[in-house]
Amino acid sequence: MKITGKTKVIGIIGWPVSHSLSPVMHNAAFEFLSLDYCYVPFAINPDHLKEAIKAIPALNITGLNVTVPHKENVLKYVVELSEEAKMIGAVNTLKISNNRLVGYNTDGTGFVNALKEAGHLVANKRLLIIGSGGSAKAVAFKSASEGVNLIIIANRTISKAILLKNKLDEYFPSLKIEVTGIGYDELKCAIEKVDTVVNTTSIGLGREDLSPVPGELIHKGLFIYDLIYNPHETALLRYSKAAGCRYANGLGMLVHQGAESFRIWTGVEPPVEVMRQAVEKAVSNL
Ligand code: NDP
Repeated sequence: MKITGKTKVIGIIGWPVSHSLSPVMHNAAFEFLSLDYCYVPFAINPDHLKEAIKAIPALNITGLNVTVPHKENVLKYVVELSEEAKMIGAVNTLKISNNRLVGYNTDGTGFVNALKEAGHLVANKRLLIIGSGGSAKAVAFKSASEGVNLIIIANRTISKAILLKNKLDEYFPSLKIEVTGIGYDELKCAIEKVDTVVNTTSIGLGREDLSPVPGELIHKGLFIYDLIYNPHETALLRYSKAAGCRYANGLGMLVHQGAESFRIWTGVEPPVEVMRQAVEKAVSNL
């Protein structure tokens, strides 16, 4: 990659960001298409977020990804929000237009496109979403927009699941939404009512021995999506494979949320396969 005086700068703000695969993914895409952009990590301490955001237009930065812990905190500095970012209450992509920050959230699109790629359309499905954090919100709102028939939200902290349900109710008053805990009997009961299970918790992140769902509750009729992609095969996905169900890990969501951000910044169709290969290579080296 040749960086010149004309190169446009895109980046990611988070704390920490050293683990992020987005620089590898986007730089591979820019290089493949010979676009004069580069993508750099900005480790922004939460205490410095305000100053950092203020400096973005002054530094002539073209766009940014926003990751943990800034996704919600940037909202107050953004002048315009996409409908999705407004619903979810979090931003993962910023575009700077005429010195103004416009906020988007591409996580939900990443999720839906990853499932589509795995041959599982979200419309008319009955979903069990385990977790109620940032990614659960994106998954739930996008799935609701796509026309799911039922969402059951299961979370360790029930009050957070109720908050998410209440917010979903505001936007989708006719959608059937239930809330439960993550105990054995609660999950058993929930799984009997759904055809799709999505793990949005960090249970299993960096660990091959932990699963949010006990193996004996998983049956062949389910589609299982784990947002985690490291390890490549979590315990949840191992159980899914053993039960003979269809499943996929979170790599597809990572690639597709990135592809959507790429489209927003550049207006160019993203080279999804190039992005996927770059990420797969980086994950295998973790
Ligand atoms: P948040 O911190 O916002 O939410 C974490 C969720 O996990 C909460 O629901 C929390 O429950 C639950 N949780 C955490 N630890 C435990 C535990 N020990 N037992 C039970 N529940 C637990 O995180 P995010 O939503 O941002 O991310 C969640 C996961 O999704 C991460 O593994 C992340 O890497 C992955 N991810 C993947 C993406 C992709 O593109 N593939 C995109 C975004 C995230 P509680 O409310 O009770 O604390």
